[in-house]
Amino acid sequence: MNERSSKSLSGSLAFGSEHNHSLCIEEALDHAKRVCEEGGERFTNLRRQVFELVWAEHKPVKAYDLLSALASKRSGVAPATVYRTLDFLQAQGLVHRLESLNAYLGCSHPETDHQGHFLICENCEEVRELELGAFMQSIAAVEDAQDFRVRRMTIELFGLCKRCQAANSGPDPTLP
Ligand SMILES: [Zn+2]
Ligand SMILES: [Zn+2]
Ligand SMILES: [Zn+2]
Repeated sequence: MNERSSKSLSGSLAFGSEHNHSLCIEEALDHAKRVCEEGGERFTNLRRQVFELVWAEHKPVKAYDLLSALASKRSGVAPATVYRTLDFLQAQGLVHRLESLNAYLGCSHPETDHQGHFLICENCEEVRELELGAFMQSIAAVEDAQDFRVRRMTIELFGLCKRCQAANSGPDPTLP
């Protein structure tokens, strides 16, 4: 955990609310560049393009779609290079990988040290990233009880977001 305030990027406010997404991307890019520089890494053109594609929407981007979107921006990038770039961005804590979807999502609060916990709407695919101390405490208790050290985890909870619940709560057309 670093000493900087753990304020979220505007992206985390996006769910179900209007926000200035171009400003949100701009902030995310600024932050990503800073993280790379502070770690002695370069925020190369390719890293920037991949990051921008992941941040294009507040929805997970499937690896396959990302590869084809990137191919339309620049030619001759091998998939392995793109995966390496995604690994790099993940290692910097800038993007998360959603294992079950094989998709990537920009981290909406990259300034805090955390593992990914996600609520995934099965209807509209919007994903909300959670930052829950309670989860971490339970995991710490399991680590102690089992004498096991967790190095990596992604918790993915599937369901319906508020908007989709409302859309689904009308009269059930299958009932007489
Ligand atoms: Zn946004
Ligand atoms: Zn995150
Ligand atoms: Zn939804």
